[in-house]
Amino acid sequence: MDLMEHQGKELFRAMGIPTTPQGGIATTPERAEELAAGFGVAVMVKAQVLTGGRGKAGGVKFCPDAAAARAAAEAILGLDIKGHTVSKVLVEPASDIAEEYYLSVLHDRLSKGYKIIASVEGGVEIEETNRTDPEKVVKHDVDPTMGLERAAAERIVGAAGFPADVADELAAFLVQLYDGFVASDATLFEVNPLIRTEAGEIIALDSKVSIDDNALFRHPDLSEQAEAGGGDPLELEAKRKGLQYVKLDGDIGIMGNGAGLVMATLDMVHQAGGQPANFLDAGGGASAESMAEGIAFVLSDPQVKAMLINIFGGITRCDDVARGVLGALEVIGDLEQRIVVRLDGTNAEDGRRILAGANHPKLATAEKMLDGAEKVVELASQVS
Ligand code: GDP
Ligand code: MG
Repeated sequence: MDLMEHQGKELFRAMGIPTTPQGGIATTPERAEELAAGFGVAVMVKAQVLTGGRGKAGGVKFCPDAAAARAAAEAILGLDIKGHTVSKVLVEPASDIAEEYYLSVLHDRLSKGYKIIASVEGGVEIEETNRTDPEKVVKHDVDPTMGLERAAAERIVGAAGFPADVADELAAFLVQLYDGFVASDATLFEVNPLIRTEAGEIIALDSKVSIDDNALFRHPDLSEQAEAGGGDPLELEAKRKGLQYVKLDGDIGIMGNGAGLVMATLDMVHQAGGQPANFLDAGGGASAESMAEGIAFVLSDPQVKAMLINIFGGITRCDDVARGVLGALEVIGDLEQRIVVRLDGTNAEDGRRILAGANHPKLATAEKMLDGAEKVVELASQVS
């Protein structure tokens, strides 16, 4: 589960990790103005969406006064950032930035441990720095059973080449970040940028926090928060409907049966040059109702230009799936987007024959996964 910036910062505050002054949430320009007037200082108005690169997309604005905060909120609310519509903004007192650094703690599946990544080059995407100046990105594996000692933190800070006069404070920050990460069962605590203020303080200016879903039962407060205020609206809706759905940044809707197959479908769409809009595992059954629910749900995402349904028949028979899809299209009615259905496995030929026989104007079929992916990418590219 991902937290929005303001929720991540709340968590930081609760754990004693230094961050920006407490702000407020606004869903209207009027409220943003009110909050800014209440602070009585220059503020930042920041889009709260579960994706990065908000700054570049115009979702982060410096506002010298309350009127500017109102105008900024007007511009940012409703903005589309990589497929996420902004419905709320964080209004918080602006910080004076002297330098921007990068610091994160994450799960590393390769080393089966935790990894700390540190760089003096913050603010920009760390992947970019890693490409252009790999020597400026320090990676350090931590054995979870040993934890992070202060001395190790100091070595990391030294290796990353942070200025000597803030080394102590940075090492202390890193230990706090690490301890907070472990205590909240997180899979990611990313601070980009971590700033040194003009006054010489080290604080988290941004937060990107993911909590391990399997540990959420230990953090009812966090999961409640995400339900109540945060979370992608489509993902929350999917959760209510009991769908195995993850929102992604692209424009090609995806549905398949079985998590592994859906993952492979995402890879195929990438390989064909497309960008998936979501992950949706329809599970084993393929009743017309469950197909209709899944298809209608994927197509309800305004970002989706075309959809790929990828079914491998095992116990589920492809002729049943084909009838399910046609039943679903009847239930849904008018379709804007085109759909490619790839059927393979038990009774696949029957299934394809049934679909072809229906002669539905919005439906195309495919035999192989890559064919299906190429077709759907082509169809999506025809949509403006
Ligand atoms: P992101 O683009 O989604 O990562 O959003 P960030 O929260 O990281 O903000 C992007 C950039 O906006 C930062 O790297 C800063 O340069 C700038 N910024 C954010 N907050 C402040 C602030 O309080 N004061 C100043 N001066 N700049 C800020
Ligand atoms: Mg950032």
